[in-house]
Amino acid sequence: MGTELTFSIIKPNAVKKNAIGPIIALFEKNGLKIAAAKLVRLEKAQCEEFYAEHKARPFFGELVSFMTSGPVMLMALAGENAVSKNREIMGATDPAKAAAGTIRALYGDNVGENAVHGSDSPQSAMRELNLFFKETEFVNK
Ligand code: ADP
Ligand code: MG
Repeated sequence: MGTELTFSIIKPNAVKKNAIGPIIALFEKNGLKIAAAKLVRLEKAQCEEFYAEHKARPFFGELVSFMTSGPVMLMALAGENAVSKNREIMGATDPAKAAAGTIRALYGDNVGENAVHGSDSPQSAMRELNLFFKETEFVNK
């Protein structure tokens, strides 16, 4: 099938605990390449658009306020089946239920502050990469 791209965010709690390095090491160790990366602070409106599918959920306000609370690392990850492989490396949404050795088990604090985001389908990946890396050429695939 060739190389696929997915979108990843290292969330504010993981950046705060200096876990950017070990998280990227897990991606690379598992065969995903960093195709693009930038460290930014998300703006509220931008974050609300990104998480639009969750607008009606009770945790939406909390989620947006957490995701805008500090710097985040935005990345495009490339590799065979990058979308599903990334979801495996991340582990379950709730760190308490995430398999041992996954990013969320290692660096997540709770179901909200769960260390990383990863696209849930190739279609989501396209939408999310377009939001944050529209002008970027992916030079490392
Ligand atoms: P995932 O990030 O695993 O795809 P969802 O798409 O269901 O999970 O949720 C998006 C994000 O919203 C989660 O990563 C987490 O930060 C937050 N979230 C999900 N469920 C809850 C919850 N019950 N309480 C607080 N925050 C939540
Ligand atoms: Mg999701």
